[in-house]
Amino acid sequence: MNVKGKVILSMLVVSTVIVVFWEYINRTHSYHEEEEDTDKAKEQRKEDEEELQLLDWFNPHKRPEVVTMTGWKAPVVWEGTYSRAILENYYAKQKITVGLTVFAVGRYIEHYLEEFLTSANKFFMVGHRVIFYIMVDDVSRMPLIELGPLRSFKVFEIRPEKRWQDISMMRMKTIGEHIVAHIQHEVDFLFCMDVDQVFQDTFGLETLGQSVAQLQAWWYKADPDEFTYERRKESAAYIPFGQGDFYYHAAIFGGTPTQVLNITQECFRGILQDKKNDIEAEWHDESHLNKYFLLNKPTKILSPEYCWDYHIGLPSDIKLVKISWQTKEYNLVRNNV
Ligand code: UDP
Ligand code: MN
Repeated sequence: MNVKGKVILSMLVVSTVIVVFWEYINRTHSYHEEEEDTDKAKEQRKEDEEELQLLDWFNPHKRPEVVTMTGWKAPVVWEGTYSRAILENYYAKQKITVGLTVFAVGRYIEHYLEEFLTSANKFFMVGHRVIFYIMVDDVSRMPLIELGPLRSFKVFEIRPEKRWQDISMMRMKTIGEHIVAHIQHEVDFLFCMDVDQVFQDTFGLETLGQSVAQLQAWWYKADPDEFTYERRKESAAYIPFGQGDFYYHAAIFGGTPTQVLNITQECFRGILQDKKNDIEAEWHDESHLNKYFLLNKPTKILSPEYCWDYHIGLPSDIKLVKISWQTKEYNLVRNNV
């Protein structure tokens, strides 16, 4: 073999060694990756196994006289149907934070805010981290509240709308903006509530879910055709007769920040569309919320025990009131009646 032949041969040998070595490295690398993958899959499976299932904490048969499960298999949480102890045990490992937005504009500050916050401090998600997001039109009139452990609050000054209808509806826009700007990074679950109500008893872990709706106390036994849905086709909130599941109360809704963002953005989109078409839904943001939950079924529904109006009386269905309505004093608190 001449010199040229030897060079070519040794180059061939070297390149073969390199290719074989390269293959070897790749294989062991992907072998390790596979190994890591199965470890991850195992971990995931373990987590899935440990994830709490609905029937671990919820028993729909405990309240046979009321609707405890929707047609789409979402629980309707009534007193007696849930085990809070099992939920506490499960969430103890997760260290969750729950947010609560509340608005008080104009006279609603002096009239309702202090009682709402004092009672929420006492009864909302006791033992868990809570952030109250308080939106007022004048921070200097914020009541002084001493909060318990694990509770904190953030106050924001918002521009007041002239009409109460707009104050109520614009909450959808403001909540959405705050979720995007910061709330999504701060909490695991978020509730949005009216201020004209008072907590009476523990509003606990059984209320948490992906998207949570509240049954309106006056309508929980009625037929959908009787509901005060928006019935004019021209409105984005339109629901025809013959359709509808429940009449939901806009005074309480919630879910994960992502879901609540979707709820508020979709409702506000409907509100803006109505403004463009010079129409206002009969029950404002509540009409739009009802349309939203008709199209996007809530994953959990709270019984009227979670937002009860004592003016109805106290029927035997209502075992334990968690929040009660304040008396409506529109002439005292609203700018335009
Ligand atoms: N709101 C407010 N100032 C107003 C009107 C409304 O702060 O002038 C807020 C407040 O949080 C209130 C919510 O919007 O709870 C909805 O309005 P309201 O409770 O009067 O409506 P209703 O429950 O009677 O339908
Ligand atoms: Mn209200």
